[in-house]
Amino acid sequence: MNLKSFFPRVALSAAVVLLAQGVANATYFRTVVIDPGHGGHDNGGQWGRVYEKHLCLDTAARLEAYLKSHGIRTVMTRNSDYFISLPERVNIANRYPGAIFVAIHYNYTWKQEVAGLETYFTTPQSQPLAAFVQDSMLRHVRTNDRGVKFARFYVIRNTTCPAVLVECGFVSQDLERERMKQGWYRQSLAEGIGQGILRYRSN
Ligand SMILES: [Zn+2]
Repeated sequence: MNLKSFFPRVALSAAVVLLAQGVANATYFRTVVIDPGHGGHDNGGQWGRVYEKHLCLDTAARLEAYLKSHGIRTVMTRNSDYFISLPERVNIANRYPGAIFVAIHYNYTWKQEVAGLETYFTTPQSQPLAAFVQDSMLRHVRTNDRGVKFARFYVIRNTTCPAVLVECGFVSQDLERERMKQGWYRQSLAEGIGQGILRYRSN
């Protein structure tokens, strides 16, 4: 009797699905897909000449360098100032088996006193990654903890791997904007995010 006839086809494919879910729940990953928000004609949040899209790209590049220096393979969804649609970002992420996805954004609100960091997740499998990233960022920079939050943002809802979206502070807040304009601050944020990813992997 060969295995194929012993196990009905349905049972075999169910076993494959269970195996795939097991892999997705593990904190091991092979690749970090870094997604700098906005780009090209999409500036994101803007205050004077401070554009969110530039801050996102620079912070993402610093995160990429940090992770590479720790031997982690990275992929950037964009690596200069051009437009890339949300489905394209998701398609890039879903091409890599055993990946995690980290979208980098800066925040904006009309309430000019609001400042601080927040990290979003959609699926339960992404919540631990969000928690490690948020906690590690707050160990690196002094600002408000706005929390780890659930939201159905397109890029973290449609990626199949653990996926988070990080909001690195408010372009609309005077003090936070002055800090985010400086390289040392974006470096601290990038190292915080990177350390969160390393802690997630080794937990
Ligand atoms: Zn954004």
